[in-house]
Amino acid sequence: MEQHVLIAGGGIGGLALAPTLHQIVIPCHVIEAARDMRPLGVGINLQPNAVRELSDLRITSQALDTVGVQAREWALVGLNGHEIYAEPRGLDAG
Ligand SMILES: Cc1cc2nc3c(=O)[nH]c(=O)nc-3n(C[C@H](O)[C@H](O)[C@H](O)COP(=O)(O)OP(=O)(O)OC[C@H]3O[C@@H](n4cnc5c(N)ncnc54)[C@H](O)[C@@H]3O)c2cc1C
Repeated sequence: MEQHVLIAGGGIGGLALAPTLHQIVIPCHVIEAARDMRPLGVGINLQPNAVRELSDLRITSQALDTVGVQAREWALVGLNGHEIYAEPRGLDAG
């Protein structure tokens, strides 16, 4: 009988592990407690190490550009909306 890895939880961890196992030809099933997936209305900031993992999963920067916005700047902004300090981020930062 073929054995499958059972991944409990279809969050970022589970949904990253599944294609990784697929790449090395290990069968798996993801089970998720939530009945349906709904946006929470929040954004997620992908740090460079996370983008590297997505790249390893063959998710291209062009594909990411269709669902996200590339970081260009890190900025500290006061309550009055005025910028206090900013520096480049992402590809703009090299
Ligand atoms: C408000 C907020 C903002 C955040 N912003 C960022 C950000 O900008 N950038 C960033 O990198 N990180 C961010 N994080 C952290 C990031 O969301 C978590 O580190 C990440 O989601 C953890 O992934 P995970 O797969 O380990 O767990 P989760 O995403 O929590 O997924 C676990 C899944 O397992 C399911 N589950 C639980 N128990 C069972 C069970 N018994 N059987 C089946 N399924 C089950 C749950 O329903 C859930 O879908 C944020 C977190 C929060 C709360």
